[in-house]
Amino acid sequence: MDAMAPFTLLRPATVAEAAALLAATPHARLMAGGTDLVPNLRHGLGAPSTLIDLSAVAELQVLRIADGAVLLGAGVTLSQVTAHADLKRTLPALVAAALTVAGPAHRSAATVGGNLCLDTRCVFYNQSAWWRWANDHCLKHGGTVCHVAPQGRRCHAAFSGDLAPVLLVHDAQVSLASAAGTRRMPLAALYVDDGAAHLALDPGEVLCAVHVPAPPENARAGYRKARVRGAIDFPLAGVAVRAIVENGVLADLRVALTGTNARPFLVEGVEVLRGGPVDAALLATLGRLVAKQASPMRTTAMASNYRRQVASTLAQRLLRDLANGGDGL
Ligand code: SF4
Repeated sequence: MDAMAPFTLLRPATVAEAAALLAATPHARLMAGGTDLVPNLRHGLGAPSTLIDLSAVAELQVLRIADGAVLLGAGVTLSQVTAHADLKRTLPALVAAALTVAGPAHRSAATVGGNLCLDTRCVFYNQSAWWRWANDHCLKHGGTVCHVAPQGRRCHAAFSGDLAPVLLVHDAQVSLASAAGTRRMPLAALYVDDGAAHLALDPGEVLCAVHVPAPPENARAGYRKARVRGAIDFPLAGVAVRAIVENGVLADLRVALTGTNARPFLVEGVEVLRGGPVDAALLATLGRLVAKQASPMRTTAMASNYRRQVASTLAQRLLRDLANGGDGL
């Protein structure tokens, strides 16, 4: 990695101050834990003249649970998530997903907001500047061609955050702030299926918090991921499942994926599985739905079809485990 180019570091104390600085400073970038941003900048993937460090904004540090609903500030670190006993009782799948992110040192700095706004990843992008120069830049940064799909005009880099699929199956919303005001929207609407521009944030917007409604009492949820290095790695495919099984019948099901597409997303069509027993036929149908909607491209060292099959298998095993009374973790 190279040294970072010279930059000005601003350290606002409030969200309003951060939004005002962002609006007033052309080409500024927000930084939370910096665990992904800094390596990218040291790889020459951007050279912002100003970084706005959010770590002193107390409003972003809130973690509150009331009647089963969770308010999670964007600046809460992943190690705070994993250490929170009440959160572990309320949203065990979220805590499990946070525990799969990198290693302890990363989690002590990495934040909820950073994981949700993680840049998309690709073997042709997450490389040093000289590597990308030697292999010709691609259209996500500095080039005109996608080396994964050269005939197309879009980027297929994969979103690889671990928290988003769990929050999606729990119907989470996010609140955003800018100099123009605040707004709230479903987490699903934060993401766009475009590896070069996958966040639907307006210019100058800051992700402030995640709001998770109280899960139904009889719902069980889990998260599983496949990765190259079990101790520390991004997902080749990650699956979150939330299911309600009553008297042996599937009453409700939500499934979300990460690591396979340019955005994390809820798998469509799973409602057709409601009303049946969680048997081999139902699991096979779920597997087909997942395999059809997962669209991994050649953005990792692992074959695309392997990641598709892994996503399908993880979803089936996770639902089977939850239906059999397992904790899904
Ligand atoms: Fe570049 Fe294509 Fe990879 Fe996107 S998918 S980062 S455009 S090579």
